[in-house]
Amino acid sequence: MTEAFLHYLWQHQMLDKRLATTDGQPVVVISAGTLNRDAGPDFFNARLTIDGVEWVGNIEVHLRTSDWNAHRHTADPAYNNVILHVVYEHDADITLHNGRQPLTLELRHFLHPSIVANYDALMAPSTVDAIPCAKRLPQVPKLITGSFLDRLVVERIQAKSELVRRLLDESRGGWEQTCYWLLAHYFGGKVNALPFELLAKATPPTLLARWKDNPQRLEALLMGQAGLLEGYFEDDYPRQLQADYHALRQGASLIPIDAALWRLFRLRPSAFPTIRISQLAHLLASTSSLFSSLLTMTQVADIERLFACRASSYWDNHYHFDQPTAKSSVKQLGRMQADLLVINAWVPLLFVYGETMGNQHYKDQAVALLEQLGAEDNAVTRQWLSAGLSPANAAQSQALLQLKNHYCYSRRCLDCRIGHHIMKHTS
Ligand code: SF4
Repeated sequence: MTEAFLHYLWQHQMLDKRLATTDGQPVVVISAGTLNRDAGPDFFNARLTIDGVEWVGNIEVHLRTSDWNAHRHTADPAYNNVILHVVYEHDADITLHNGRQPLTLELRHFLHPSIVANYDALMAPSTVDAIPCAKRLPQVPKLITGSFLDRLVVERIQAKSELVRRLLDESRGGWEQTCYWLLAHYFGGKVNALPFELLAKATPPTLLARWKDNPQRLEALLMGQAGLLEGYFEDDYPRQLQADYHALRQGASLIPIDAALWRLFRLRPSAFPTIRISQLAHLLASTSSLFSSLLTMTQVADIERLFACRASSYWDNHYHFDQPTAKSSVKQLGRMQADLLVINAWVPLLFVYGETMGNQHYKDQAVALLEQLGAEDNAVTRQWLSAGLSPANAAQSQALLQLKNHYCYSRRCLDCRIGHHIMKHTS
């Protein structure tokens, strides 16, 4: 038994209807009150009749009556308006700060065994990866699951928005700059997100704007600021980039980031920083204003086309300067990477833009883009699949990630609509 479960039972009145206080007075709940997660009593403004007399006031919930004393509530006048002390087990007499003794309801006499059994089953120890309610999922109506996933996808986007807000703050509200920084961050993937973000911040917007229509100059600027153009090169291509970068440096105080920050460990060669930097340069050169262009795109296919930028032809047979590869292949950003940029960068940015502008249209558009993308295939979505829940699109696969990581993993079944349905129904 936990206090959180007692709160839940009281809030939803999942109790025997024939309630009575410890001294035998019948209790009828007209309103359970409003759950208070801050300091003070657990429920505000409950309405009850006790022995036929109507009471309006607060409810305090504890596992045991003696917890009142352990929490020193007698010394706190904020609890003077408690009209009923709801406990699992009554084991002590208590008084309020004003000297009154509140009535007590001992819940263990009024619980439904099936609800307690459902709760115990959900809370039973299991492996970290398991979905505790997997066996019961097929019994949950699709309407309930679907509407909960609709809420979770928004929660997921909001969680991803934290990075957007940080960058927006650092750029002093510059949407174009935030868009560039954010995309650069995700160009780096998990391994090189930080150096890519630092690189983006180390490239002055004025220089980017000046060389907008010259991908090679942009590549020289980015490679140079990435610290990758130091030293001597054999090939003409890096020598040209080096010369362009030194020319750019003449008129601007450019400080490259530390090249030691770049990581290659466990990276596919096509995701090496050299390739991604060249692709980023071509993306920047493909439009005069990334953010404004993206804002007009309502079809995910158009965004995928914009993001499908290819690296300079030198990289067709190189992963490093001066080291030709045996095979040649065009290094174009794949559709999967483009979709990850949509999911992780553009959708949260568009959502925050809608929130900042007070324009629901952009927030809806952010969710609609996810609905146009196919469901992701990863360890978590495969787990849901084997439990019988198949995501129809990326909005639902993102929602299922949120559910697994932020509800199932920490057993927040009492906050989960699926859990709420399971709790009320016997298997
Ligand atoms: S949080 Fe919800 S979906 Fe996850 S195990 Fe609990 S009831 Fe099931």
